[in-house]
Amino acid sequence: MEKYDVCIIGAGIGGLMAAYRIKQRKPHASVIICEKGMTLENRKCPASATQGCAHCKICAVTNGYGGAGARSDGKLNIGTAYGGILGNEIGENEAMKYIRQVDDALCGFADFIDGKRDYPEMYRSNEDLKLKCLQNNLRLLDMDVRHLGTDRNLNILKNLVRGLDEMGVDMRSGCEVEKIEKDGEKWIVSSDGLEIESGKIVIAVGRGGAGFVSRFCREFNVKMKSNAVDIGVRVEMKDMIWREFSSRIYEPKILCRTKTFEDKTRMFCFNQGGIVSAENNNGVITANGHSYADKDKKTENCNFAILSSINFTEPFNKPTEYVESISRLANSIGNGNVLVQRFGDLVRGRRTNDHRLGQNTVIPTLKATPGDISLVLPHRILTNIIDTIYALDKVAPGTANDDTLLYGCEAKYYSIRPEHTSAFEVLDGAYIIGDCSGITRGLSQAGAMGLIVADDITK
Ligand SMILES: Cc1cc2nc3c(=O)[nH]c(=O)nc-3n(C[C@H](O)[C@H](O)[C@H](O)COP(=O)(O)OP(=O)(O)OC[C@H]3O[C@@H](n4cnc5c(N)ncnc54)[C@H](O)[C@@H]3O)c2cc1C
Repeated sequence: MEKYDVCIIGAGIGGLMAAYRIKQRKPHASVIICEKGMTLENRKCPASATQGCAHCKICAVTNGYGGAGARSDGKLNIGTAYGGILGNEIGENEAMKYIRQVDDALCGFADFIDGKRDYPEMYRSNEDLKLKCLQNNLRLLDMDVRHLGTDRNLNILKNLVRGLDEMGVDMRSGCEVEKIEKDGEKWIVSSDGLEIESGKIVIAVGRGGAGFVSRFCREFNVKMKSNAVDIGVRVEMKDMIWREFSSRIYEPKILCRTKTFEDKTRMFCFNQGGIVSAENNNGVITANGHSYADKDKKTENCNFAILSSINFTEPFNKPTEYVESISRLANSIGNGNVLVQRFGDLVRGRRTNDHRLGQNTVIPTLKATPGDISLVLPHRILTNIIDTIYALDKVAPGTANDDTLLYGCEAKYYSIRPEHTSAFEVLDGAYIIGDCSGITRGLSQAGAMGLIVADDITK
């Protein structure tokens, strides 16, 4: 049995920031990170615009060193208006303090170019665009954003992992934790023949680890609260349609109250010049998107998510299963892949086929199966998405063009929220942080939680 002071499960931004801060504050503390995915160098997604998702057992897009964020374009939200509810949990000022520390820490791992750190300027919020949205019954969420870019983000993560190695953090790839047990004061963590005894454990298994966290909470009687789930589509169109926004605020995030049902939808995860990607969440293939900072890798398109929120009430308490079953249905109709449909086909009640897709002016950046999203999404959610596209068309004319592409499904679920102390300890010596805690939905807040638990562990 190997012995450590702290065992961190998951090498996403939450786990990495926790390890970094622990070693900064207590250099002699022994820290291990168990990560089920591969190292950054060995994380390779075989999907491409021509071949689509290859259904790997462990998805390289979401798993591995750097976590789900490693292959993202690293939009770092410097604020609490979205990306999680950390501000509600610990207070706005405290949350902002830690988010800024994540920003500083990442900047410290950026490469030096011409004597200064290769770290991008901040995109500031914009009053004119906010007004334009308000005048059209939309709410532009106001926050400063730093766009690291897929390539620079990867570099920073590589430097961070190297830095942790130099600080003496023991990092293990291909190490999926299967069991956690308690033996007196100690925690015993097991993975394929490896047994680790540790004083503290930090569970940072990300959104894909929601099932792992549920099992842990059930086993150790940690109370859980239900969260909302979001389901909808990834939308792709010509980049120039949203350039007025993207050139001024980088990432438009817009809330909408839909015309028909007055439900809440949100447009977010905007990628200028980006590509649509597929991700494999435990066998369920869903859509996502990212963009490179490198100008040579930009496409003619932009993409973003439009998701509709659902808050289930008694007696239903399986929101994750609900969105997974809808996504599975899309995979089943799409022959194991996400579906793609032209907006013009959707509103005319017909499927998209290869012929119509071949004539589309918006060239898809992901190989998805042409089909009919209305056969998958429930009426209310589909109506919410169509209403939102027409509403967005008022501030960015062209959004509701016939040739706009919708990829289905995209889903975000943070269905459970374990009860915790103010430092996110759920049991004596056990912490749950980042996206698997149901509290965060983005890099900066997940990283901030890592720093918070590290401060608690080393106090
Ligand atoms: C394509 C894409 C683009 C994104 N773009 C952005 C963006 O631009 N800006 C932003 O703020 N957010 C973005 N996000 C979201 C962001 O990546 C996440 O919010 C963030 O990574 C959460 O960090 P985390 O540490 O909580 O979990 P994760 O990053 O998900 O890391 C969890 C890690 O735990 C590992 N793991 C899971 N189970 C086990 C186990 N049993 N044993 C060992 N290891 C395990 C996983 O393999 C994974 O590597 C994006 C996500 C995706 C998928």
